[in-house]
Amino acid sequence: MRMKIQVTGIVQGVGFRPFIYRTAAKNRLNGYVKNRGDAGVEILLEGEERALKSFLKDLKGKKPPLARIHEVITVELGGKDRYEKFTIRESSNEAELSGSVIPPDIAICDDCLRELRDPSDPRHEYFFITCTNCGPRFTIIEKLPYDRENTTMREFPMCNFCLREYNDPLNRRFHAQTVACPKCGPKVYLTTAKGKPVEHKDPVREAGRLLSEGHIVAVKGYGGFHVAASTIEDRPLIKLREVKHRSQKPFAIMSRSLEGTRTFAEVNEKEAELLASHARPIVPLDRSRDYFLSELISPGLHNVAVMLPYAGLHYMLFDQVDDVAFVMTSANPPNQPIINDNDEALKILGNTVDYFLFHNRRIAHRCDDSVIRTHRGDVAFLRRSRGYAPAPIVLRKNAKHCIVGLGGELNNTACVLNSNKAFISQHIGDVENVETRAFLEAGTKHLIRLTNSKVEIISCDLHPKFTTTKLAQDLAEENEWQLVQVQHHYAHVAGLMFEHGVEEMMGICCDGYGYGPEGEAWGGEILLCTDRLSGFKRLAHLQEQPLVGGDLATRYPARMAAGILHGKADVQSWLMQDQLRLPHGKKEVEIILQQLEKASGITETTSCGRVLDAVSAVLDVCHERTYEGEPSMKLESTAMRGKDVLKLPIKVKSNALDTTQMLLQIFEAREKHSKKDLAFSAHAYLARGLASLAIEKASEQCVKTVGFSGGVACNAVIVSIMRHAVEAEGLRFLVHESIPAGDGGLSFGQAVASGFSRN
Ligand SMILES: [Zn+2]
Ligand SMILES: [Zn+2]
Ligand SMILES: [Zn+2]
Repeated sequence: MRMKIQVTGIVQGVGFRPFIYRTAAKNRLNGYVKNRGDAGVEILLEGEERALKSFLKDLKGKKPPLARIHEVITVELGGKDRYEKFTIRESSNEAELSGSVIPPDIAICDDCLRELRDPSDPRHEYFFITCTNCGPRFTIIEKLPYDRENTTMREFPMCNFCLREYNDPLNRRFHAQTVACPKCGPKVYLTTAKGKPVEHKDPVREAGRLLSEGHIVAVKGYGGFHVAASTIEDRPLIKLREVKHRSQKPFAIMSRSLEGTRTFAEVNEKEAELLASHARPIVPLDRSRDYFLSELISPGLHNVAVMLPYAGLHYMLFDQVDDVAFVMTSANPPNQPIINDNDEALKILGNTVDYFLFHNRRIAHRCDDSVIRTHRGDVAFLRRSRGYAPAPIVLRKNAKHCIVGLGGELNNTACVLNSNKAFISQHIGDVENVETRAFLEAGTKHLIRLTNSKVEIISCDLHPKFTTTKLAQDLAEENEWQLVQVQHHYAHVAGLMFEHGVEEMMGICCDGYGYGPEGEAWGGEILLCTDRLSGFKRLAHLQEQPLVGGDLATRYPARMAAGILHGKADVQSWLMQDQLRLPHGKKEVEIILQQLEKASGITETTSCGRVLDAVSAVLDVCHERTYEGEPSMKLESTAMRGKDVLKLPIKVKSNALDTTQMLLQIFEAREKHSKKDLAFSAHAYLARGLASLAIEKASEQCVKTVGFSGGVACNAVIVSIMRHAVEAEGLRFLVHESIPAGDGGLSFGQAVASGFSRN
């Protein structure tokens, strides 16, 4: 019997061909296996029918751990047997199927880690030791199929030893494209800040020693550069904050081990599992009572963002020092993509760092670290990137068209929706300038090529001035794609619906800002989304509040508080009391009050983020936003151990949840209760209030599911109170699990919203 099999999924770069080779040999089958240009694998088999059946069973049941099979297409062939043995054939460029993709980068596996430490192994202490089961993939591939000459490894021809392993069917490195050793593979070297070589026979451990001594070192990894520093000494962190203009934004740290992490942070079972997973994301962990690292790592927050080493290089940094962790923050200037090129790093980081730890392999595609947060069993992506992108989210339905979503403005990603698979790009960042626009455009085109997608529609936000909207218009024209603009909050809720495969949802969508259908500033909305509608219906929202001074009100939360409390409390003396509340003191206060008196020309917003900001200001938790979400993140940290002391009654007027009375009562109680209890009371009011509105609307519309999306859905305090309220009414409560709740999930939402609601 003869049979041709095509397999789609994540089947290149995961040891799939060696596995097929061994399975064919085991079943005494002849023929071949080869990679194709569409990221799929083609197999031809000849042999007895029983053997073929057993092969097909093994194909699904015993596939390599990192492989994901989406589809197995079998065609019985006629004719006589032609092959005398089974071989791995050269890859072809044929590309007719779509839906396959190469895997994300994978952290060093246990076998490689053992060899790294084994003095008798030829790859002992080789910083880039990898095998079929681990190593970079997405960040080194330039085009398909996944063969060495299509990756940045092509500049490192294998030595005889590596080649022997590469050609040995019984070896773990059989056909592993990243195979390398100290003799033939990429080299690591240390330089000064000016790029002058620092001769040392053990540059990685020397870099670790320099870090421990208080120097700042830029470390090149798989998908970009990290800026690394001590976690104990304040001096390098003060310098880093100064030169990077990041006075408050938390730095991620890399901890030497799980055990080490437990000396300064609480790690529950779920968090331990995530930290040690193949993807090795950054996980924000509650600081423990014994926390002894520098306060400058995450100022004003209750947690610290930790990841574990994911390459041999990272493990070796800790070998000769006692440090339990190093700061490892992504090395990019504000609003710029992560740095991936050696010359660029020297230019941009030269005045920030003391040393560079370079290697000589090019990075084909940048990729930032992923960030995942857990809370009471909920797992939330704050950023989905390294270790996850470009693996697809598999949906329950097939989209009618092939669509690309370009996302919004901040924390952006792109998404390619192809049939029932949504491929979300790596984290792109804030798309506000030419560099990030170029990164988004290149990343999107690469993703389309990698997935062999024939795009028909491009979707973007409604905001006419977003860089992504303009890019979508340009690409639509250039490629003759149809352009579909999707309202921001509808995209969030649609994303949540399709992630969970539900057909209707009362969506609560809360974030900082999204452009409403008439240009309004939305951000605290209750939206009905169902199959019955083509689009959505806004049924309720937060009370509209003045945004005094537009963007300034976002930067200085006291402006928001002043706008909400104006005419209800003595805002003037409160603002005057403390210089810190507003940067320009008395004069600024007078202008703000004049504007509020006149009450004309002030934009109003229903943003939930801005209300949380105002509470943050009233409680003197944060008076300036130096990074996105800072006032509300610090407020959440303050609320973490608080109680609902005020138990504020829920007040709704014309489908708008009151926020003025809420803030007024917090304001008036600020001398009577602790900050943490008042912070918690504000969270509780918003969570209960929004939940009760959603519950009421859900029962009116006979909808059984309430969902919570938008950036505020990363707030653990609000999520848990809301969940409790919704589930107590017998309704289902959903939050995001595999895509970010914030704007990193927007591209996915846009793609599904335009892919399914159209005919
Ligand atoms: Zn390995
Ligand atoms: Zn070698
Ligand atoms: Zn949003």
